[in-house]
Amino acid sequence: MITHELRGPRRRLIETLQANGIRDLAVLRAFDEVPRHLFVPTGVRHRAYEDAALPIGSGQTISQPSIHALYLDVLGLTGRERVLEIGTGSGFQTALLARLAAQVFTIERVAALMDRAKEVLRSLQVNNVSFLVGDGTIGWREYGPYDAILVGAGSPTVPQPLVDQLAIGGRLLCPVGNRDKQEVVLVARDVSGVRTSVVTDARFVPLVGTHGWVDGTPA
Ligand code: SAH
Repeated sequence: MITHELRGPRRRLIETLQANGIRDLAVLRAFDEVPRHLFVPTGVRHRAYEDAALPIGSGQTISQPSIHALYLDVLGLTGRERVLEIGTGSGFQTALLARLAAQVFTIERVAALMDRAKEVLRSLQVNNVSFLVGDGTIGWREYGPYDAILVGAGSPTVPQPLVDQLAIGGRLLCPVGNRDKQEVVLVARDVSGVRTSVVTDARFVPLVGTHGWVDGTPA
């Protein structure tokens, strides 16, 4: 999947991520190897290596690189994990995860976005990802439990089915708050139960589903 196109801007983005405190070398390497510009619409491609969220259609956005990097830095993946991602969106984070974990399961509710993400991932020969169009707030029980679960949209609460699908030793990241402002919550499961802590403030598009937002109100 390695591409030399736009390598200069990509290197500058990586320097920004390092300056922001991202230390995991595997994460920084993944950012160097995954061409973010292929995951954004052509109209905003010239901005692909800015540390900014960008529109991807269907009213959704590709998240800011520093947020993806923070998620991955917190998780510290070793390459052996089974990972569940909620909100495929552009598929960019999916591609990063595919490099950093063993198997990725990703769910997106907007079929048009999933079609596009699948196409880009296929063109980059990413083949350890399973795709599902549907409501990610109920998870994907069939393939669980997961070592890591990443929610890429903001929810009024952490969806309980996702907590239930977390393996012992597993960790889940989910933005929790109101529709325009959240805190990213880390849920860690060990033999004695789950522990919750706050990682950072953030601003994500709403998680819409049974255990997320329904028509502007919490489910
Ligand atoms: N990491 C992605 C984030 C995209 S924005 C990226 O950087 O491209 C969040 C995505 O979550 C949107 O595409 C939105 O359609 C999707 N989404 C919202 N609610 C969802 C749900 N219940 N299940 C699955 N996907 C959902």
